[in-house]
Amino acid sequence: MEGNQINYQPVTADLLLALGYRKYSGEKLDVYYSSAICGHVGNCVRGNPHVFQVGRRPWIISDNGNQADTIRVINSCPTGALKYMIKN
Ligand code: SF4
Repeated sequence: MEGNQINYQPVTADLLLALGYRKYSGEKLDVYYSSAICGHVGNCVRGNPHVFQVGRRPWIISDNGNQADTIRVINSCPTGALKYMIKN
């Protein structure tokens, strides 16, 4: 699933927040997560446990991973619960 799109449209921060996603800011990459959508399949924590770690607060730390790899992991989320926005 494309982690920077919803229904083939580019995501915006306002849209994601309006849809109930929570923002996890990073220096160059913001990660967004919706607990309501998450199916707890675990692709994210298996994909990079440094960035995605259940039980830690915050459980997503964008700056713990490199941008390309975190985007790869987000794109592996099968439900669309994870989204990202690259910062300028
Ligand atoms: S990969 Fe997506 S659906 Fe699976 S646990 Fe992570 S956020 Fe939830």
